[in-house]
This record gives sequence, structure tokens and C-alpha cells, in this order.
Amino acid sequence: MSGLKKHLWNDDKQSAISLTFDDGMKSHLDLAIPILENFGLAGTFYPIAKGNWETSLERFRPAFENGHEIGNHSIHHWCSCATSLDLDNIGLEYRTLDELESELQLADRRFRTVFPEIDQWSFCYPCYNTFVGRGKERRSYVPVVASHFFAARAGCEMSVSVNSPYHADLHCLNSWKCEHQSANDLIGLVERTNDLGGWSIFTFHGIGEGHLPIERCDLEKLCEYLDRARDRFWVAPLINVAKDLYASWTKK
Ligand SMILES: [Zn+2]
Repeated sequence: MSGLKKHLWNDDKQSAISLTFDDGMKSHLDLAIPILENFGLAGTFYPIAKGNWETSLERFRPAFENGHEIGNHSIHHWCSCATSLDLDNIGLEYRTLDELESELQLADRRFRTVFPEIDQWSFCYPCYNTFVGRGKERRSYVPVVASHFFAARAGCEMSVSVNSPYHADLHCLNSWKCEHQSANDLIGLVERTNDLGGWSIFTFHGIGEGHLPIERCDLEKLCEYLDRARDRFWVAPLINVAKDLYASWTKK
């Protein structure tokens, strides 16, 4: 007997797509949010709670009120320093699980101060890194994230970044890195996701500016495509899909 089983997303869709935007960039407010709203789509935005954090986070309140998800992307954005030539770079290789937990707890308090209405939060791993330490001391911090957040988005070490409806790790969700991709590349990933019956999470940074960008017209074409093909794909913020998936695992 085959172990293959078809899962329907949000009751009746073949696949799910989430559009996520990291680092609280200006182009998210100026371009990404208007483009998504023009096509009636809601995304997930992951700003950082550092410096003048209340003001930085408050800029995303109109997006939240229009149905977009706001998620936690930490305070200090600690990443691996394994490729850095800067001797003073204290990256995740030198951090401990206790330090990570303190960072995440403080970040959680800051995000909840600005958005007290949000009950369940998703986290976004800075630089897709999910570990602290080196060699024998290397530890995953996924369990720490799992004890504080409902879901979390990482990157992917496999060549196909589609999340399975049966085996996905809600606290280490795979995502596609979308920088420098054309609309046709991204639409190809959407169709591949649909063929596999899974959930793809797209990670964007700058839109037509800043680091790791894609062109504005490519995001527009992708959103136009998703809008036209709504009968086949469920396009929703990450936390909505994570909740739906969790419910499918826990209901009898
Ligand atoms: Zn980031």
C-alpha cells in the first residue's frame, strides 16, 4: 500500500504559498505592501527590534491592521561569522543557548509591547542560521525558538525548499531565497510547489533597492499570477498556514 496521501490546504487548495519580507526595509513599506494589497494578498513582515525599536516597529502597524502578519526577527540579528575576516566579529559561533534565549525573550517583549493584540508569533532566524557554537559545542537553537514561538522560518539545506504537509518542522520551516530571481523563476517555484502539494515560503529582502533585492516588476508579476490562480493556491501569511497545518495534525 502506498504511503502517499493528498493533503488539502485551507480545506480545498492543492498547495500553500507565503510571501515573507525580512529586515523591516523601507521598500517593504513603500513598494511591497502596496503591491501585495493591489492584488488582495497578505504577506509576512519581519522587522528588527533594535535602536529606536518602538518607532521602527510602529511603522508596520498599518500593514498589520490591513491583515499582514508582523513577526519577530530578533534585536541584534546575530549570524554566523564563519565567513567573516573581521577579528572582532562575535557571531553565533561564540554565542550560547542562554544568550540566545535572553535575546529572544527581550525581543518578544518588545514586539508584544508594540503589538499587544498579537497572541501567537512567528520568528525568523537571522541569516537562516539555527545554531550556536562550533564543533563539539555546536547546538541547535531550534528548541529554544520552539519554546517561545508558534512557528519559525529558516532557510533550507536541501535543493527543494518545499514544506511537506506531514513532516514539516513548524519551528524550522524551509524557505526559498528569492534575491535576484525573475518573476518567471518565482512562478516556476509556485507551480513546482503545486505539483508537490506542499507549502513554499518565499524570502524577500530589498524590492528594487537595498540588499539581496528583486526587481519591483518581478514582485508585481508574481503577485498578479498568484491573484489569477487563487483557485489552486492558498496564499496566506506564514502564521495562518502554520496554524492550519498544526490543526490538521491535532484534529481527530
Ligand atoms: Zn535578516
